[in-house]
Order: sequence, then C-alpha cells, then structure tokens
Amino acid sequence: MSEQETRSVIIIGSGAAGLTAAIYNARANLNPLVFEGNQPGGQLTITTEVENYPGFPEGIMGPEMMDNFRKQAQKFGAETHFKHVTEVDFSERPFKVWVGEDLYRAHAVIIATGASAKTLKLEKEDELMGHGVSACATCDGFFFKDREIIVVGGGDSAMEEGTYLTKFAKKVYIAHRRDELRASSIMAERAHKNEKIEFLWSTEVVGLHGDPQNGGLEAVTLHNNKTDEDQKMPIEGLFYAIGHTPNTSVFQGRIDMDQKGYIITQPKNTSTNVEGVFACGDVQDPVYRQAITAAGSGCMSAIDAERWLTEQGLVE
Ligand code: NAP
Repeated sequence: MSEQETRSVIIIGSGAAGLTAAIYNARANLNPLVFEGNQPGGQLTITTEVENYPGFPEGIMGPEMMDNFRKQAQKFGAETHFKHVTEVDFSERPFKVWVGEDLYRAHAVIIATGASAKTLKLEKEDELMGHGVSACATCDGFFFKDREIIVVGGGDSAMEEGTYLTKFAKKVYIAHRRDELRASSIMAERAHKNEKIEFLWSTEVVGLHGDPQNGGLEAVTLHNNKTDEDQKMPIEGLFYAIGHTPNTSVFQGRIDMDQKGYIITQPKNTSTNVEGVFACGDVQDPVYRQAITAAGSGCMSAIDAERWLTEQGLVE
C-alpha cells in the first residue's frame, strides 16, 4: 500500500464534466489529480461526431474532443491518471480516496463519474456502437436523415427520442417488450399521433447484424414474446432508450443520492450533503445529459471547490 501527499482537489471521472473541472482548477493553480476511471473521456468516447457542441461548426469526433479536453487540463498542470477509484471515505477530512491498495487524500473532492446508458449487451453491440447503434438520439439522430430506425424502450425517453428522431428519419419503429407503455400519457399520446411512428408491441431486439467497416448496422432480429416468433428486420439505425444508470456504486452510503442513485446536489450550485465534496455532470443530472451541460456543471464544481477551499483557508 502506498500513501501520497494530501492534494487540494481530487477529481473522480474524466468526461466533459470532470475534465472541465480539471481545466478550471488547474488554471487556479490547484494542481488537481484526476482519476480517469475505466472509460477515460466518458460517454463521448463512444459516440462518433459531435455536432452540437458550440465552437465546432464542422463538428468534432467525440474521442478527439475528449483528448483535447484532457490536453487542455494537462497544459495547466492537471495530473490525469488512468485509474479507477475503488473506495472512498468522506467521514473525516482530508477525504480519503483509494485506488486498490493505494490511498490518496484531498481537502476537496469533485465527483464526475457520469452515467452509463443501459443497453441490451447483445453480441456485436460494442463494435456497432457509433455505426448504426446509439444510445443518444440528440447526439446521433442527424445522421439518420431519411432512414428507417428502431427505438427500444417504452418509457418517456423512448417516446421523446422516438418523436425527436422523426425530424430526421423516414420512419421510426418503437419496439417495446410489453404491450403497455411505461411512458406518461402525454408523451405516449404525442408519439401515437406521430404518423412516422409505428409501435412494435411485445417485441424484444435479440440480435444485431452488420459490419462496422462496411455500412454499419443492416438488420435486427426481433422476438415477439407473445407469439414466440423471430423475425429479421432490415434497419439502419437502432437507438436504446431503456434508461441510464449513474456510476455511483462506489459512493453508496457515503453521500446522499436519490432513489435511482443520482447524487443530490444543491439547487444552483454543485455542493453535496458532505461539505467539501462536489458533484457535476451526468452523475447528478438525470434530465439534460449533454456534453455542454456536463462541461458547464464541471466549471461550476471547480469554482465551488476553489471558493470553499479558500474560505476554509486550505489554499491561498
Ligand atoms: P424508464 O422510465 O425506466 O423506462 C425504461 C423503459 O425501457 C421501460 O419501458 C422498460 O420496459 C424498458 N426497458 C428497460 N430495460 C429493458 C430491457 N432490458 N429490455 C427491453 N426494454 C427495457 O426510463 P426513461 O424512459 O429513460 O425515463 C427515466 C426517467 O426520466 C423517468 O422518470 C421519465 O419520466 C423521465 N423522463 C422524462 C422526460 C420528459 O418528461 N420530457 C423525458 C425522458 C425521461 P418496461 O416498461 O417493461 O419496464
């Protein structure tokens, strides 16, 4: 076991929120230590082109954008480590953060571990992600102009994303595993009224077909759980809308969360119930979930942490 000197700030997570917090804290000479986690760069590294982040009129590839975020943070002195935090103790200060056997201490901690879109974990899913398979209609819908696509899910997200996708797609199928929606009636009604949407009831997507190097997704296998029949359906796009899971398992019992595991922050700032611990990005936001909103809240966390450290006399 190794033990390091106490840092001003440890940032856990390296998506748009964590790296923006790192840029701001590094520019404030706080020399933040960033634990990047198992997916450095976060969810944007599994999308293709980002076209809605202001400042990039030609768009930018998600992984490239996150590389740039990281370089910008490092340029000002942030230390980024490709390490996954395994345990925390926020019960006394300085706070303790473990990576395996290694113990790190910090006066302030910023949690930016994000959320992961739930997917069906089908064979070929990983390789087709970004090549016809997506979990973000706002990010990727534009690429499906005049195509036929399928949205999986029966909740408000599926209705919202299905309706949104009709702006681009020629036809949107919403495949739901039951014959009754979970979505609120107003969202369901909007989808039902949309002539481009067709519901596939009691239908599960059980197979994906296509080659990421050659046109991406081509077809899906659907299973009707009422008739027990399988059917191969040609389709170019598949969007998962079966919910998100915040990446908070390591913080269970250490910090206040809502029923779904999202960290609770104060209105209008990023403080948590533990003084000195801040949270930003998707880990505390089940609503907007955009790169720009995550970056914005990362900036807020950095400023909140810096002000708090100054008030406590922990930095000059
Ligand atoms: P959700 O309400 O949990 O719905 C998830 C849907 O995905 C359900 O229909 C569920 O089916 C289905 N599903 C889950 N796991 C599945 C699997 N393994 N295979 C197939 N289908 C699966 O999630 P959400 O739609 O993302 O909404 C999350 C929260 O955000 C909700 O509170 C929602 O009201 C809110 N929200 C609000 C708005 C809005 O008001 N504008 C928009 C989006 C989301 P079952 O129904 O069979 O369980």
